[in-house]
Amino acid sequence: MTETGVARRVPVADRTSGFTESVIREMTRLVNTFHPDDGINLAQGFPDFAAPQAIKDAAAAAIHADVNQYAVTWGAPAFRNGVADKTERFYGFRPDPDREITVCCGATEAMISTMLAVVDPGQEAIVLEPFYENYGPDCILCGAEPRFVSLHPPDWALDFDELRSAFTPRTRAIVLNTPNNPTGKVFSRSELEQIAKLCIQHDVLAITDEIYEHIVYDGLQHIPLATLPGMRERTVTINGMSKTFSVTGWRIGYALAPPQITASIRKVHDFLTVGAPAPLQEGGIAAMALPTSYYEQLQGEYEERRDFMVSALREAGFGVFSPHGAYYVMTDISGFQRGNDVAFADWLVRDLGIAVVPGSSFYSRPGAGSHMVRFAFPKRMETLRRAAERLSAIRPLVG
Ligand code: GLN
Repeated sequence: MTETGVARRVPVADRTSGFTESVIREMTRLVNTFHPDDGINLAQGFPDFAAPQAIKDAAAAAIHADVNQYAVTWGAPAFRNGVADKTERFYGFRPDPDREITVCCGATEAMISTMLAVVDPGQEAIVLEPFYENYGPDCILCGAEPRFVSLHPPDWALDFDELRSAFTPRTRAIVLNTPNNPTGKVFSRSELEQIAKLCIQHDVLAITDEIYEHIVYDGLQHIPLATLPGMRERTVTINGMSKTFSVTGWRIGYALAPPQITASIRKVHDFLTVGAPAPLQEGGIAAMALPTSYYEQLQGEYEERRDFMVSALREAGFGVFSPHGAYYVMTDISGFQRGNDVAFADWLVRDLGIAVVPGSSFYSRPGAGSHMVRFAFPKRMETLRRAAERLSAIRPLVG
């Protein structure tokens, strides 16, 4: 109340009350606060190893050559060309750099720009849960209602009857993330075919987050939904440099979409950000030209990290949902006597100096995910070994 007795309105928009601050980034802050010198951040998924020299050199050279002003709003032409070439090299279709590619400030901006471009207030977007925590707020920022459909543990199976019944006349889009954060699920061709069939039947757009496209294990292949029959014209494929080239701080992402949709995404993107960092897009040109051996090496190194983390966590007493892709492990903490996911994560970060993400932050339903925490492992083996050593100390507490 003010002195005059009138209730003071909090000067913020209602739309921001519908979601909380990012738990992932909150955990990063906590580990830095409690353990500034020896904390191990296995919460926020970013690498602690070097990015490829060739792309750093190209970005640095661009800055020195004064590529320091705005790039073309929807992306430097040579970078868009590089994205088109690389997409063709791996998946056999070539988006038109002039009409079908929008370079954004990370996949995060590509996702919200896309949603704002295609989803109207009052419409619905289907989101599979557990989900990467941005998708819920993305829907709310569009004034749209997320409709959550479960991926069922232990193998994160999709029940197609449940999915089918989530489609309503108001459904505008389905958000799909494969390889998946946080579960590590890599959607199979047959699953994608069933999703595609529903999208076509209900005239719904697919917005696919494929940022982990090159991080797949066990001989699996990432399949872009846009490559399925009838899907190219109704899919927005979101991707970026962060994970594949270990440059999460560069904020270079992109959206591939049919021309009409691209035109709309470009308008939103323009007014949100004007454009992505110009010199870093020059680094992106070098990245897109890296040979296939680069990707093979990346994949091999991640598989080694995955194997190590899965066995270290099992050894320490966690129930482990071994991932087939991306760089996270969801774990079941039921065996420990440490309360729910939030209490457990809090204890781990304060006492052990290891940050993880409470499982509930990937779920819409209260209580769901409260027996899980997510570990991120895009780290040097040395970092993972240190983490494993600390975690081995908690083994005796398993009930
Ligand atoms: N995608 C990463 C994660 O899930 C990082 C998220 C972020 O901070 N933007 O941890």
